[in-house]
Amino acid sequence: RQPGAFGVSFDADRGNAGTAVLHNPNARLALSDQRRRLPVFEHRREILYLVEHHAVTVIVGETGSGKTTQIPQYLLEAGWCASGRMVACTQPRRVAAMTVAARVAEETGGVLGREIGYAIRFEDVSTPDVTKIRFCTDGVLLREMLDDPLLTRYSVVMVDEAHERSMATDTLLGLLKKVLRRRPDLRLVISSATLEADKVAAFFDTATLRGKAAAAAGGLRRTPALLSVAGRCHDVQVHYLEQPAPDYVRAAVTAAADLHATGLPGDILMFLTGQDECEAAVRMLEEEARRGRRERASGLRLMPAALYAGLPAAAQLAALEPPPRGYRKVVAATNIAETSVTIPGVCYVIDCCYAKVKVYDPLSGMEALLAAPISRASAAQRAGRAGRTRPGHCLRLCTEAAFAELPAASVPEMQRAELAGTVLQLKALGVDNIMAFDWLAPPPAEAMVRALELLHALGALGDDARLTRPLGLRISELPLDPRLGAALLAAGRLGCAGDMATVAAMLCVQSVWFAGGGERRALEAAKEKFAVAEGDLVTYLNVWKAWEASGRSGRWAHRHLVNHRTMLRAADIRRQLLQHLWRLGIKPEEVEGSDDAPVRRALAAGLFHNAAQLAETTYESRDAAFAGTHVYRLLRSTGPGLPPRLRIGAASVLARTRPQWLVFYQVQLGAGGFHDMTDVAAIEPGWLPELAPHMFHYVRDAARG
Ligand code: ADP
Ligand code: MG
Repeated sequence: RQPGAFGVSFDADRGNAGTAVLHNPNARLALSDQRRRLPVFEHRREILYLVEHHAVTVIVGETGSGKTTQIPQYLLEAGWCASGRMVACTQPRRVAAMTVAARVAEETGGVLGREIGYAIRFEDVSTPDVTKIRFCTDGVLLREMLDDPLLTRYSVVMVDEAHERSMATDTLLGLLKKVLRRRPDLRLVISSATLEADKVAAFFDTATLRGKAAAAAGGLRRTPALLSVAGRCHDVQVHYLEQPAPDYVRAAVTAAADLHATGLPGDILMFLTGQDECEAAVRMLEEEARRGRRERASGLRLMPAALYAGLPAAAQLAALEPPPRGYRKVVAATNIAETSVTIPGVCYVIDCCYAKVKVYDPLSGMEALLAAPISRASAAQRAGRAGRTRPGHCLRLCTEAAFAELPAASVPEMQRAELAGTVLQLKALGVDNIMAFDWLAPPPAEAMVRALELLHALGALGDDARLTRPLGLRISELPLDPRLGAALLAAGRLGCAGDMATVAAMLCVQSVWFAGGGERRALEAAKEKFAVAEGDLVTYLNVWKAWEASGRSGRWAHRHLVNHRTMLRAADIRRQLLQHLWRLGIKPEEVEGSDDAPVRRALAAGLFHNAAQLAETTYESRDAAFAGTHVYRLLRSTGPGLPPRLRIGAASVLARTRPQWLVFYQVQLGAGGFHDMTDVAAIEPGWLPELAPHMFHYVRDAARG
């Protein structure tokens, strides 16, 4: 056991922030004491009784009440893992799966990866026949159903954080409802931090077991049990701004610095929307710390840390660890810290009241990322993070009036995101009639139609809307977005699968560069060294090759403002993609020399849906900030309504060169109603009708004209 890898921190140990966390020799005892003090402990017997007698048990309890870490242990202790079966506990986020597994391993005194394990995409830390509790992302469990549709390895599936309503959670719940009909011995536990749970309970009502199955199960109740666990949260005093803040990152940093200057004890957690903002905030805070003026007043030193989904595992874990003696931690996090992970010692929350969400326009078939105001329910969760150990404070970076205008609850991801990946998975699981699938919240019909169209255009579905073999099946088996999966398989045909695996891995880890406030110019210069007129995706390939040539050197990465830890993760993902390729009998070839046309061709074969052409005229606007913008338009038809106005995003290496024709991987809704394209690759228009004939016969005319 790694002593105190996650700190035996919190509560009694942290009387004031100046006291470092003590890893006392009786840690084991302290841990078992802590377990007994959690609110769910009082319901232990009741929970076990309900799970025994009900096919479905829904448990609602505030964040921190012990649902995630304790309930799987209770099930283990009660014998649900006998005769080789496991308890699965799903999480919408990978950082949560890793940290709770580590925590539970620590509580049980075991080694992570043995009895207690976890599995996230591209990483499985569990041992067959040994692991009893397996924390995994909801996406991983969905993938497992491809091999084992009835999830026969599991006796209980606990779908945790159900209130998040992630696309994978919703899909999983729909599928589990089917599985329960076939497996009366399976138990489903659904846990949630908010009361919306009754919706979920209603979904499972009456439908779980019928006729023979119910009889076979011997008195198993059909109606879901609903249990509510009272939280034990301290008061959190909420503050608002008098005036709206134009720049919430700066406002958050200033608020944190002011708080720090007061010298009051306690760590600070700030909610921002994305990686760039979190890293910018960390840089500004480091600047504060260097200036050091405020430290002298408080006697504590600032220790900033970022926490976001794209961060490599080790860095995520580091952000959760308690600070060393004499430091005050300030964690700049995305909504990853809203409910899924516990950051001990936080007494202050600074909330920008925004989150990055996916929005999908089924008319144009465009999915974009957008920093949107959060719901009041989310804001309440965020504020609650300040009251874990003692009464706390939450500063919302908006006016009280503006806050009152926020929506009460958030829209499930299923109803606002692009569906191709989900539809493909359902098809691969034999759910042929997608429209009639028992959805917890049905997605808009147009969105389903668009997903079917895209999958058909990728060749994954045939004219009968069934999975094609081998192409569709193979795409569904690759742990990638269907568009990237199609690109990877196309690369196999074009003799550059090894290169495409690199690009796909780099896209999976997201930002490769060290983003950040003050050093923008240095970053531009660093990018310049690798930038090619063919765009970001080829540039990633160059970065990868240079990093490889350096012997995967951290010093090299540092010098070129490349995120070394991100690269290590990309390397790991790439290795696994290569394994998939070998299994499919595809040789991961790399193109010799500098001819990147095959890779761009392969990219076009996957991303043709996002192919765009530079418009002849620039954007006309009375607003000087947007007038003269070079606008791109999508090549495919986008249905009625205004077509999206695309432009190359500022982060792209192509921001200045502007190719005539390109494909892009993502867009972000930016200022002026523009869709900012990121991860762009220049293409030849002639490739499209060749690579995606059903979609692009008309491009030939466009190219000629
Ligand atoms: P819930 O799932 O209800 O939000 P958890 O089971 O995740 O609650 O956490 C219960 C308690 O266990 C937390 O309040 C915290 O005190 C402790 N805990 C959980 N994870 C960690 C961790 N990684 N490090 C330190 N303490 C933790
Ligand atoms: Mg939890």
